[in-house]
Amino acid sequence: MDGGKERRGAGAGAHSLTSAPMNTPEFPLPAADRLRIVLVGTQHPGNIGAAARALKTMGLARLVLVAPEQFPAEEASRRAAGADDLLADARVVATLAEGVADCRYVLGCTARSRRVQLEEFEPRQAAARAVTMAAQGEVAMVFGRERTGLTNEELQLCHAAVHIPANPEYSSLNLAAAVQVLAYELRLALRGQASSPAPESRHPDDAPASHAQLEGFFAQLGQTLDEIDFHKGRTPDSAMRKLRRLFLRADLSEQEVRLLRGVLADAQRMARLADGRT
Ligand code: SAH
Repeated sequence: MDGGKERRGAGAGAHSLTSAPMNTPEFPLPAADRLRIVLVGTQHPGNIGAAARALKTMGLARLVLVAPEQFPAEEASRRAAGADDLLADARVVATLAEGVADCRYVLGCTARSRRVQLEEFEPRQAAARAVTMAAQGEVAMVFGRERTGLTNEELQLCHAAVHIPANPEYSSLNLAAAVQVLAYELRLALRGQASSPAPESRHPDDAPASHAQLEGFFAQLGQTLDEIDFHKGRTPDSAMRKLRRLFLRADLSEQEVRLLRGVLADAQRMARLADGRT
């Protein structure tokens, strides 16, 4: 990889990921511009090309590649079959955290149902939610590696999981096939949104918290729980997973995250004072 620095495919650079309108003239709504598909650790470049083709057929355009094993690659362009403009514009990053840092909502697609303590959606619900959230901020739909899917740590970065209810005995779709299913559902959801009134937007002073802001809050929450001896010798993982799930569901705004961090800072201060007394 490239040591964490962002790079793009040949001919790239025309779009800034956070703001520029993309190649989605069919959906004159900001929502389509704010949806990104993130492929994590893809092993076969052919799947990257096939995923680009799947997106373009559904009118979507934004592809983020997290540490792909081989990219750019001839096989990717060959399988893209005319969708190589998406490959050229694809953003390549080193970690999933980097690829979704500016997102307000992240969905992780997993071939194994109920593997993690995350709210789980079927594709139709997931797409509807993604499109609604995209009215207010950046949204990512994340796909894992061909062999091993997403790690638990990567799934922890997601607000919810998506599972295509396939044959339980044989539930793992080819990566690009899974992208096609979700891209189709996103298209249906975007078309539905185009024909219905826009959802009420938030007060401008109450912008939704970004992924990076939430991760900062979770880091401080973890420290505070240690400092107030919340775990009492138990491992912190299970409580942290439940707390993450609770706060992710709460759809926090920037202001609310600041308020919560203020509460934590005081709890930390009191814990230090109490420590000094004993
Ligand atoms: N062997 C892996 C499957 C990887 S398939 C595992 O057991 O996890 C590659 C990726 O395609 C997965 O990480 C997931 O993002 C997506 N995918 C495949 N089948 C899926 C399904 N039934 N539901 C949701 N996503 C799926």
